[in-house]
Amino acid sequence: MKGKKILVVGSGIAGLATSLRLIRRGYEVEILEKNSMAGGRMNLIEENGFKFDTGPTFFSMSYEFDELAADIQKELPFELKELNPLYTVWYDEPGKRYTIYKDLDKLASEFAKVEPGFREKMEAYLETTARLYYDTESLIIKNNFDSLMDYASTLIRVPMVHFPKLFRTFWKEVSRYFKSEDVREILSLVSFFLGGTPFDTPSVFTMLSFTEFVHDGYYNVSGGMYKIVEGFVQMLESNGVKVHYNTEIVDIETNGAELQSLVDQNNRKWTSDIYVINSDAAFFRGKVLKREKYSEENLDRKRWTMAPFTIYLGINQKLPELKMHNYFLRGNFREYSDKIYTSQASLEQAYYYVNVVSRFNRQAAPEGKESIFILCPVPDLRFKSDWSDRGEIADAIITDLSRRTGYDINDKIISKTILSPIEWRDKFNLHRGSGLGLGHSMRQMGYLRPSNRDEKFENLFYTGSSTLPGTGIPMAIISSKLVTERIEKKYGSILTDLH
Ligand SMILES: Cc1cc2nc3c(=O)[nH]c(=O)nc-3n(C[C@H](O)[C@H](O)[C@H](O)COP(=O)(O)OP(=O)(O)OC[C@H]3O[C@@H](n4cnc5c(N)ncnc54)[C@H](O)[C@@H]3O)c2cc1C
Repeated sequence: MKGKKILVVGSGIAGLATSLRLIRRGYEVEILEKNSMAGGRMNLIEENGFKFDTGPTFFSMSYEFDELAADIQKELPFELKELNPLYTVWYDEPGKRYTIYKDLDKLASEFAKVEPGFREKMEAYLETTARLYYDTESLIIKNNFDSLMDYASTLIRVPMVHFPKLFRTFWKEVSRYFKSEDVREILSLVSFFLGGTPFDTPSVFTMLSFTEFVHDGYYNVSGGMYKIVEGFVQMLESNGVKVHYNTEIVDIETNGAELQSLVDQNNRKWTSDIYVINSDAAFFRGKVLKREKYSEENLDRKRWTMAPFTIYLGINQKLPELKMHNYFLRGNFREYSDKIYTSQASLEQAYYYVNVVSRFNRQAAPEGKESIFILCPVPDLRFKSDWSDRGEIADAIITDLSRRTGYDINDKIISKTILSPIEWRDKFNLHRGSGLGLGHSMRQMGYLRPSNRDEKFENLFYTGSSTLPGTGIPMAIISSKLVTERIEKKYGSILTDLH
């Protein structure tokens, strides 16, 4: 493999992590990025002295970053900070609020009134989710599959005790342990992090309750999430990796068996021995490789995760009543969940998440001010294509937030940026504006997800959300490990110390 060159298309977290692993293995790497900044969805908005992380605001499974650090034999260039408490859930009834702790005694006291015996029930629930996690992590999540046969024979090795979970939803599984609707709803929120709802997410994902409450909790990074991107880019650049910004790959050239070059929007050709695509693995196959299986119509038939509607506000006062991570729910959880991804009606009484960015990262707002991020999951562009009402939708959410927190936020806004699914689609090439990529139904997992090895071109590979294993930051790091294993197996490696 000596001297082999790899072009990585996209500088999202998966593209950056893959590049780090590849230079450690002696490859020469260059990155081509559509936008003028690295990071993809994990980006940064700066406006009028306020700073906002564009997408992710916290993550679980921080040990995946430790695994990456061990793999490249370098310390992480950022500092992880564990969240305590995890988050706060606000219901619409006055004063009805729950603080969600990892500590089971504290959590049990939050639910003492609504769920008698909560602690024992939670222990039983977490024991099952722990078993599920340990029995599937290395078999299913951290595994490449070469064929359907390989996948099927791996699935059979999962202990039979977990099989009923394949046929239950997240909600059904949680309901087997808890009677209180509030407890069921709150424990199910993690399925929204996967971009689905508890009513359509398979119960195998209850293993996330284990990662949430026991195994690791949630983490942020000192100075904000974008520190991860800055740190990785700096590490790559100091090891000779060049990132070419404002370079969008729109076409390819091939000799049949192999990809010969990539073509950018200015018709410039980029040639390499090996190619790794961090652009969405399903979208790229359709849009750039023009594969019929991934045509727009065929992609529309797949299950996609939520589209984000995001608001970034600079506020001319402090908001001490708001906690760092807040979920604002109402009393119609089931009805709302059923409509949320397909109906515009759901926006009239939106559920949303609010992160007070400057509570944790003080440099994110000028003295005495606050920067806040609001995320509302909305229908993707298949179900709502016109977002000319984005201003009204944002105003309705901000008015609701003011009413529920007691601050007149509308009067105090000095900076406002809104991203609808249209902007998310256009900026990062996300199919129909879906924020987390392909959904996680049983038919879109493991071997059934778009592979990280191209079906046709031997020297083409994929990393990121819509390929193996799935979406979210820890999965992107695992994805970088899986694709690197593929490349190393085929082309070899010469371990090289990084500066
Ligand atoms: C609003 C929102 C909130 C989220 N919150 C969380 C959270 O709290 N915790 C969590 O773990 N996850 C969260 N996620 C999910 C997380 O952001 C993603 O799973 C992760 O960042 C995806 O990384 P990636 O590398 O796979 O893709 P991306 O970040 O999308 O990177 C792909 C890169 O490829 C570039 N690109 C695309 N097409 C081309 C092309 N043709 N040519 C050149 N470059 C191209 C893009 O510009 C982009 O930089 C959130 C996502 C969103 C949208």
